[in-house]
Amino acid sequence: MSSSPNAPDGAKARPVQRAAPSLSIVVPCFNEEAALPALLARLDRLVADLSAAGRVAGPVEVILVDDGSSDRTWQVICAASRAHRVTGLRLSRNHGHQRALLAGLMQASSDVVVSMDADLQDDPGVVAQMLDAYRDGAEIVYGVRKSRAADTAFKRFSARSYYWLMRKMGVDLLPDHADFRLISRKALRALGEFGETNLFLRGLIRQLGFASAVVGYDRAPRSAGESKYPLRKMLSFALEGVTSFSVQPLRLITGAGFFIAGLSFLYVCYSVLAWATGRTVPGWASTVLPIYLLGGLHLIALGVIGEYVGKIYQETKRRPRFIVDEIVQPEPGQERAGN
Ligand code: UDP
Ligand code: MG
Repeated sequence: MSSSPNAPDGAKARPVQRAAPSLSIVVPCFNEEAALPALLARLDRLVADLSAAGRVAGPVEVILVDDGSSDRTWQVICAASRAHRVTGLRLSRNHGHQRALLAGLMQASSDVVVSMDADLQDDPGVVAQMLDAYRDGAEIVYGVRKSRAADTAFKRFSARSYYWLMRKMGVDLLPDHADFRLISRKALRALGEFGETNLFLRGLIRQLGFASAVVGYDRAPRSAGESKYPLRKMLSFALEGVTSFSVQPLRLITGAGFFIAGLSFLYVCYSVLAWATGRTVPGWASTVLPIYLLGGLHLIALGVIGEYVGKIYQETKRRPRFIVDEIVQPEPGQERAGN
């Protein structure tokens, strides 16, 4: 385990270790019927190990959020509610990964909550280390993938470029961290204060502050089914990250405006000089090119501004970020195997 810059400093007055916390695990699921059996079996094992090692207090609450799936995900979750003692939360429609995750986080009732994907790409084996970091004083523990060997070259390149761009835009993101993390009750309460409709949790959680730690893990290939993030969705999520946390694009437009205005001033000087020395050539290119160039720049600028205005529009409506249709809870009294 390595630590981030604001990690609790273990060398100096090491705080007294906290007691083992109660744990909730939140998993958003969108059309994951194929991946759920392996996930449930792995979570059973994880819970049994954590309980046996005394790393968690009381029964572990597992919350599976069905994000409006069109396959049999909800039926699988309902059956698992009985057989695997999990809580099922069914959203009224597909709200998107981030909102489904938030719905699960808000439902969780334990001291700490670990969120992970349904496809076992996030290694449940490192949850023990996350809990240790919490007991050492961290309020947030980020799961960071150690390598991107399992990714395609395109995904590796686009991820690297994205983190570079975000850094340039002044957005605080932890590279190679997605939504595999532990959050304490205190941090969760603070997260609840952010009422944003446009959710980009990995950026939002960085804004919370608090002592944090980092746990490295190897990201496995998807256990079953296919990615719910096609290129189009990935791009829109990336844009969400930029426009939710940075006004740098607006500044770039201003910069481009000044630059072009400066160029045209030089052009005016040149034209006056040309007129004075009688070297005027009736020019087609010099008339038409600026029209296209400026027209294009105007449209880009309008698009960027529109992106932010649209965001303001969405935020002012203050619509609920998710709507829960149904909750199934394991019957009280029965203990999960391993607890
Ligand atoms: N997911 C969701 N709603 C969506 C899209 C995805 O709840 O609209 C869930 C999905 O079931 C998975 C997690 O979000 O548990 C991450 O999705 P995925 O693994 O497909 O993304 P990738 O790892 O390919 O980026
Ligand atoms: Mg995945």
